[in-house]
This record gives sequence, structure tokens and C-alpha cells, in this order.
Amino acid sequence: MKIYGDYHTHTYFSDGRRSVEENVSAAVARGLEAVAVSDHGFDNPDRFSLTREKAARQTELIAEARCDHPDIRIYHAIEADITGTDGDIDMRPEDFARFDYVIAGFHRFAKPHTARDFFGFYLPAYFSFAFRPSADVVRRNTRAFNAMIKRYPIAFVAHLNDMVICDPKEVAECAADHGTYLEINMKHIDVFERALDGILATDVKLIANTDAHTPGKVGDFTELEKLLQRVPELSPRILNAVPGEIIFRN
Ligand SMILES: [Zn+2]
Ligand SMILES: [Zn+2]
Repeated sequence: MKIYGDYHTHTYFSDGRRSVEENVSAAVARGLEAVAVSDHGFDNPDRFSLTREKAARQTELIAEARCDHPDIRIYHAIEADITGTDGDIDMRPEDFARFDYVIAGFHRFAKPHTARDFFGFYLPAYFSFAFRPSADVVRRNTRAFNAMIKRYPIAFVAHLNDMVICDPKEVAECAADHGTYLEINMKHIDVFERALDGILATDVKLIANTDAHTPGKVGDFTELEKLLQRVPELSPRILNAVPGEIIFRN
């Protein structure tokens, strides 16, 4: 199956390896019709996240890349962080205008805003690889993600159920109701597959992305092909499996 756009990639502006230009060139070489630069949000440690200054510099580089590569749509996005049980993300109201769309997901290095969030949201996530979270924790996580989707114009949720375990059906329902998509992340196929039954029980739309941190991975959807052999009924939900522009919430 051809995938026409890669809507989640990283550059050296956060923890990716290479430049905006190199990711875009890689996408062109793969024959994509769209690519996004979507570095990590503001509350991660500065050395591997965007700062407001870096984001401004990126805007200039993306404008240059758009001139140099008129045949591919280039998006300036951000991968923001959910930082607590009230659904907070690490964006100030004035930050939204800089980006074409906002991705959101959980990342363990982003600063929790309160001690309560550290103990109630981050700690269970840190140990989720070893201990199945309690029903209470899953309920709290689900409420957090749904609050985030209701409060902010999230284009899509990145790697749902990586570390922070939610009820995937409830989050997918809320996402579908608000025009937010869920991601099939090539680096977290296992996580997606575990949540699959809940997701398929809803009308939510999906978007497949590489989350590439090197140009070589931009547009590499090998893992998706394997997943679609196991679960062919996913194909019609994948927005970037058809050509043309995708409408994002913003
Ligand atoms: Zn991520
Ligand atoms: Zn990412």
C-alpha cells in the first residue's frame, strides 16, 4: 500500500539527527507528496526539544525548503506533550499560530506541571512496562487524554498507549467526536496493535507516520505493510493512504 505523506518526523532541532532540508529531500526521494517537521515540545529538556527561539528559526528554514521543493507539501508541526491528568499540554495560547498543526503524546522527559501529576500520571507510566496499571490509573489516564482532546485542537494523538495506558476505545471515541485522528506510529506498532480492538470499535480515522529521527527513515512504512497483512481492515481508515491534502483540526 502506498502512503502519500509522512506527518511526523524529527530534526536536530529536537532529538532527530539531521536538518529540515535533509528530511524534506528524503521525503522527495521517497516520492511522498507531503512531509512534516514535528519536533518535540517546549517542556522537554532544551537540548532535545524546541525552544521558542528554535521554533522561529525553523519557520524560516521551512519557508526556504518550500521554495526549494515546490512539488511537496511541507508542514511545520510540533509534537507537544501531555503533562498531567487535567489534559494540559506544553503549549502557550500564542504558540499555536506558529504551527500548521499540533500532534500530542506522552513523553517521559517532559516536565510535569505539579507534584500530583508526577505521582498520579508520570510514575505509573514509568513502571507500565513492568506492572499493569490499576483500573483507577487507566481511568485517570483516559480522562486525561480525553480532556486534552476536548481542550486543544490536537490534529492527532501520537503513539496512544505508549507508557500511559488508557482505554483505547474511549479515547478513540472522543477523538472521532472532535475530529482528532489517532496515529499508527512505525516505532510503536506493538502498542497500536494491543489497542486495536478498542480503536476498531469506533469510527476514528488513522494516520500512519514514521516518527523518523533520521532522513533514512522518512517515508519508510515497511512495518505498516506487515501490520496490514495481519489486519487488512485497517486500510480504509488510513487517511494518508490516499493522495491529496488531509484536513487537520487547528
Ligand atoms: Zn513521540
Ligand atoms: Zn516523535
